[in-house]
Amino acid sequence: MGISFDLSGKGALVTGANTGIGQAIAVALAEAGADVALAGRSDPVETLKLVEATGRKAVNISADLSSTQPVQRVVDEALAGLGRIDILVNNAGIIRRNDLLDFGEEDWDAVMDTNLKTLFFLSQAAARHMVSRGPENGSAGKIINIASLLTFQGGIRVPSYAAAKSGVGGVTKAMANELAASGVQVNAIAPGYIATNNTAALQADATRSRQILERIPTGRWGSPQDIAGAAVFLASPASDYVTGHVLAVDGGWLAR
Ligand code: NAP
Repeated sequence: MGISFDLSGKGALVTGANTGIGQAIAVALAEAGADVALAGRSDPVETLKLVEATGRKAVNISADLSSTQPVQRVVDEALAGLGRIDILVNNAGIIRRNDLLDFGEEDWDAVMDTNLKTLFFLSQAAARHMVSRGPENGSAGKIINIASLLTFQGGIRVPSYAAAKSGVGGVTKAMANELAASGVQVNAIAPGYIATNNTAALQADATRSRQILERIPTGRWGSPQDIAGAAVFLASPASDYVTGHVLAVDGGWLAR
């Protein structure tokens, strides 16, 4: 009886999987054996193809996650398409940048709603299904939240993002505590600086990009694939005794 990273027979729901980190996670979960439902506001054309190329089922769920309005429908459509939800990856997220003294209420609300409020209520809806179904071979389900280095730090010109991602660390632990007895593990991944749309403005700013690279011991920006291994681990039986943890995948940034 070895350690298992196998996800065969599992159903995974991943938000914001048309691009970037969500895409890499969805494909990696499929490569590990899971069927995958992709929920987001842009059609995940490329991701659907990549998942299907692994031989696994891919289900497309169109949903704008800037409010909680579609949350129950997303869970219902994932269940209809996959038959089960064993894994939820809350990846969809936005960032708004402005100087602190000019930062506006719309930029505050938009980031808090998508990155924190919807994440909690989608987790709640998925957890109700996981808890009512109960544990199979140890685990009843895995919830993986995509946090950030700004779960631990304040950042620059991104106060609502720092607040929301700090909140993601808090609700990860709150959910883990209450769901542990039902066999659901809840963890988060805190990606470091990853080259995606989310960080396009930073990559394009020569000064900020140099400052960031100078601080990363690994000496390079991360790729979405760098996050995928942690996601497979946290989705698999190998992590059944890991809950309430925020796993940094950051090229060593927080160690500096
Ligand atoms: P990305 O390429 O911008 O991906 C963000 C994803 O979220 C996209 O699929 C996006 O869809 C989706 N999304 C945003 N708002 C949505 C909404 N209202 N409804 C449905 N989907 C929505 O950036 P990424 O870097 O891969 O980001 C993924 C996650 O990682 C985010 O939570 C981000 O905060 C986090 N993160 C990223 C980094 C990094 O360095 N890149 C570091 C730490 C944490 P659209 O394509 O339609 O916008």
